[in-house]
Amino acid sequence: MSSEDLIGLGYVVAAILFILGLKGLGKPRTAVRGNQLGATGMLIAVLVTLADRDIVSFWQLAVGVAIGTGIGVLLALRVEMTSMPQLVALFNGFGGLASVLVGAASFFEAVGRGQDDLQLTVAAALTAFIGAVTFTGSIIAFTKLQESWDGIVVPAAPIVNVALVVVSIVFGALMVSDPDERLWFWLLVATASVLGVTVTSPIGGADMPVVIALLNSLSGLAASAAGFVLDNALLIIAGALVGASGLILTAIMTKAMNRTLVNVLFSEAPTAGDGVDADSVYAGKVTSTSADEVAMLLDTAERVAIVPGYGLAVAQAQHAVRDLTRVLEENGTEVVFGIHPVAGRMPGHMNVLLAEAEIDYGALIEMDVINPTFDQTDVAIVLGANDVVNPVAREAEGPIAGMPILDVDRARVVVVIKRSLSPGFAGIPNPLFAADNAMMLYGDGKAAVVDITKSLAEM
Ligand code: NDP
Repeated sequence: MSSEDLIGLGYVVAAILFILGLKGLGKPRTAVRGNQLGATGMLIAVLVTLADRDIVSFWQLAVGVAIGTGIGVLLALRVEMTSMPQLVALFNGFGGLASVLVGAASFFEAVGRGQDDLQLTVAAALTAFIGAVTFTGSIIAFTKLQESWDGIVVPAAPIVNVALVVVSIVFGALMVSDPDERLWFWLLVATASVLGVTVTSPIGGADMPVVIALLNSLSGLAASAAGFVLDNALLIIAGALVGASGLILTAIMTKAMNRTLVNVLFSEAPTAGDGVDADSVYAGKVTSTSADEVAMLLDTAERVAIVPGYGLAVAQAQHAVRDLTRVLEENGTEVVFGIHPVAGRMPGHMNVLLAEAEIDYGALIEMDVINPTFDQTDVAIVLGANDVVNPVAREAEGPIAGMPILDVDRARVVVVIKRSLSPGFAGIPNPLFAADNAMMLYGDGKAAVVDITKSLAEM
């Protein structure tokens, strides 16, 4: 077998492992094995690529690996667990940028050797377009998740976006008709970079999960297009797998938000807090409670539903929640968890945290299944969740209008654990806090749950 055949075979084995890995990741019970299969596939892919001496010299590779490892170690040590979603957004962006650079280098090289053809030029144009949109779009997503910058204000954003897509197509066509002129490539990159900013900036409220999933998909598609430029089958397959799974995730997220992708990307988003005044929602109507009082409620409850949100991640309260769950179950109380698909700051955020604390997967109930059961629930504990339980979503207008929510307000009593009355990611007040059957337990999520568990154990 020639070395070329061996490289080809290694790539096929890696691709099969990627597919089996993805299949495993589809179910919680097989996810760990799926992850291991995918990682093994990546190891084979890297080793085979290293054996392919035609690509770059070992020296260049060693320098690249050293720089990458240094940055990776630094990030792993420095980045807080709550900043993981931002980090993932940044990684997506770097994937897009890498595709643009790799695509540019191979395309210009092929043009220099007179080996370019229509397929290569179209692939290079797609790499430039998708990669650049992904890069700048992800940077804006990063700053939004970090809550450090909300992006730019784009007047008549839908029109601007369509115009930028048209200009990009024109530069792509100029690349095809005149591949020797490098300017068209870079003008296409510049236009697509602006498009990434103008598409992502106006998206706010609760629609960000859709953008996160879409950027993830785009980073894969950019890599796949770069695979066509490089003529590397594994990059094409791996990129297509990321692209396809990201698109499936986008579909799941848009369904969870009761939106369409076109609607999220090309409609003017209502700004946070439009027409809603926090004082009129809360004034004199909010009841606060104590850990002892909540423990008394829980002591007599037959069924308790815990609804976690982003605050669970901030407080790192998952282990404390597990301890509370054990005490309640020993007391004969049924405990379930209501999981909203966009709770937290990244898809599957709550599942990951609760799994880390070894909370039984069977107790995690999806929104559609748990909602009809809230009226048979004695106590709903809302732990650091806000937007995903905000009844304002049932109204016709507003930043989260139409988003399905967890119907905790239909439980007999609702206990909301958070530090203040401040709003969630969408930036709007939550009338649930002032509902007749709701009580606020102010404080850090972890400390509050520990206090409740202590009071309950002393009863
Ligand atoms: P929210 O962001 O709506 O609310 C989180 C709440 O947690 C805040 O109101 C905050 O209140 C509270 N909190 C913060 N720290 C603590 C703490 N230490 N202890 C207790 N409470 C705390 O979270 P949800 O999960 O309800 O909703 C997620 C939102 O994020 C949605 O709007 C969603 O669209 C969006 N989003 C989701 C993504 C995803 O993929 N899942 C991605 C991007 C955005 P206080 O400060 O008073 O304590």
